[in-house]
Amino acid sequence: MRRFLYGSNLLTYKSMSHLLTVQNLLELQAQTEAEEIMGANPVIGLLGGGQLGRMLCEAANPLGIDIAILDERNSPAKQAHETNRHVTGSFKDPARIRELASRSDYLSVEIEHVDTEVLEDIEKNGVDIELADGSTVTHRPPIHPSWRTLRLIQDKYLQKEHFRTSEQKIPIAEHMAIESGEATLDSLEEAADKFGFPFMLKARKGSYDGRGNFKVSSGKDIEPAINALGKLPLYAEKWAPFVKELAVMVIRTENDEGELTGCVAYPAVETIHEDSICTKVFMPPREVSDEVCEEARELACSVVSTLWGRGVFAVEMFLLEDNSLMVNEVAPRPHNSGHYTIEAIPAMSQYKAQIHAVLDLPIPKKLIPRVPAAIMLNILGGAAPNSHHKLTRLARSTYDDDMDVHLHLYGKESKPGRKIGHITLTGFSSLDELEQKAEPFIKLVDEIRQGRIDAAAEVLRPKQEEPSIPSIDGMSVEREPIAKAIFDSHNAAPVPERTRSGAASRTRSAAASRTRSGAASRTRSGAASRTISAASVKAPTPKPVNDGIQPGQIQNGVHSEDDDDDVAEDKPLVLVTMGSDSDLPVLKAGLDILKEFNVPYALDITSAHRTPKYMMRVADEAAGKGIKVIIAAAGGAAHLPGMISSETPLPVIGVPVKATHLDGLDSLLSIVQMPRGVPTATVGINNSTNAALLAIRILGTIIPDYQSAMKKYQLDMEEAVIEKGTKLRTAGDVEYLANMKAKA
Ligand code: ADP
Ligand code: MG
Repeated sequence: MRRFLYGSNLLTYKSMSHLLTVQNLLELQAQTEAEEIMGANPVIGLLGGGQLGRMLCEAANPLGIDIAILDERNSPAKQAHETNRHVTGSFKDPARIRELASRSDYLSVEIEHVDTEVLEDIEKNGVDIELADGSTVTHRPPIHPSWRTLRLIQDKYLQKEHFRTSEQKIPIAEHMAIESGEATLDSLEEAADKFGFPFMLKARKGSYDGRGNFKVSSGKDIEPAINALGKLPLYAEKWAPFVKELAVMVIRTENDEGELTGCVAYPAVETIHEDSICTKVFMPPREVSDEVCEEARELACSVVSTLWGRGVFAVEMFLLEDNSLMVNEVAPRPHNSGHYTIEAIPAMSQYKAQIHAVLDLPIPKKLIPRVPAAIMLNILGGAAPNSHHKLTRLARSTYDDDMDVHLHLYGKESKPGRKIGHITLTGFSSLDELEQKAEPFIKLVDEIRQGRIDAAAEVLRPKQEEPSIPSIDGMSVEREPIAKAIFDSHNAAPVPERTRSGAASRTRSAAASRTRSGAASRTRSGAASRTISAASVKAPTPKPVNDGIQPGQIQNGVHSEDDDDDVAEDKPLVLVTMGSDSDLPVLKAGLDILKEFNVPYALDITSAHRTPKYMMRVADEAAGKGIKVIIAAAGGAAHLPGMISSETPLPVIGVPVKATHLDGLDSLLSIVQMPRGVPTATVGINNSTNAALLAIRILGTIIPDYQSAMKKYQLDMEEAVIEKGTKLRTAGDVEYLANMKAKA
């Protein structure tokens, strides 16, 4: 018997071969310690913490199963499950995978692009767990699905070859490997001769959501295809003239000796892909006969029976005109096409099935939906961070006798084209009727898509045709990445390092986190890891104090009339103003922060006492000119922040500057003691750093990039303090102080 009588502290083992050493340990009455290492309930260590992991956690929570996630902090899955076993880092990092293995009873994945070498090594040699007495035990958590499956699936060409040569005679598209380097062109021409046009050129590894695929429609596309994908290992596939795409989820079980014990298929569904991303799923498939659906399920089972390990697998297929089926590819994990099972087959959703299969718990013999029809709509990020709000509002407010609406948000920042949630609609009569009821939802999903396309087209237009940037400034600074994300996804940009939806931004944050976990960043090398990528927010164009401009010439509260077009592009979001240029040195720290976060800002001098009319005009016009936050520094009788606040509806942050007398208390009290109705945020004396950070937090409420950058800043700070603590504990106070003095 394997350990874990669930919910009790009694540890038992079924899989003797895997945990023999730990069992011996138990026999040696080290049970308590082993429990501490492994926990009283089974722990599944999961490589990857995206939305699939999140939904897996949502299924695991009521079952009392612990999921330890290896991914960055606050990843969607970690938000949904609290445990002290999570590991922070990349699911491609062997050391972190080992750490996860040492904290888990089983290992599984929510993404196939993981390091299979280390998984193979863990299966063969285990990981050493150090006990309190200094001795070590070897721990071998079973890995499901098997690393063999993951390795095969990772290489789409080898996957196709596996199916081609399998006994099961799995129908797949003709394909051939494409030579690398200088031979690529000849090889592609050979593919064109062999398959005709169009054919599909695919990256063998790392692709997802259509990234890494290039449709070669004619000879003219060969060069662009090489430009887009030429540096990657490639293969070519004959075009499949499908009429529909279908998918079937399968639960695969096997015993601890690796012998297949069962394959149970979920119903076949129809998947709709737009812009190479799955956008909609229909259960049952529309206008597909029951016989074909049954064939699809049988085919899916025979495909999955050729693989290794336990768990759920998605089989993507093409339905051809003659009603025959062709297998496109397999995903060895829960899949977008199976989200609908959460509500349609609630007793055994694909996520619950994954847990049951991995733990070798009972699996039903049949998977019968509890509703006759379901539609799953992906919520993909729109052109603006809030483009999907109308849709989520509709989902939250729709109650209908004939249709249930189930909203799932993944706790992810919205980016154009990124999977940030989904809605499952379940119907109690026919799919036809459900489709009619679903119309308003489908319309909004299509509108969001159109918005993305329009935004991309706008930015991709030649410069002189570019329309002026709209006055919603948070949006205008986001334009570039919107276009880029869509352009990339349409044109098979090189496959990013991290492979899953929203990869561009995740790559960025993953990179930042990697830096964070490295020693270098702990010293707060700072700017690099915190600064928002230049691609996402325009670099600031700080205006020098007064800018040589007389008050009367000031436009927009911040720019002169002479400023050219790039005024609009660099439109400041923060106005930093001061009562006197003697306040500038105090503001420098805050300005550095704004630069570090790439916040476009403008500078000015607006004396409450010497240029009161001008100050009021600046305050009055700031909001209309796109400014979102005002920082106002003043010393002595520091009336500037309060006066500005009385004239503008914007948030004003006052920085009390320490003047010659009274240690700055006069400035602080002048600012902080504002009458009711005229709020003025106040930071510490001379603390322009906090003023800038607060301004960025305010911006973060409308521009998600600033919020993520702020989160990184906070994490950096935390790590810097932790590192100092470690150094202090190691070095002791005397050496630490000596080092501090040396540095000073
Ligand atoms: P991904 O890893 O992005 O899911 P796929 O290989 O599944 O990559 O391809 C994405 C989509 O491209 C498929 O869902 C299908 O719409 C289309 N596609 C893939 N291969 C072919 C093919 N041989 N013929 C026609 N369309 C294809
Ligand atoms: Mg696919």
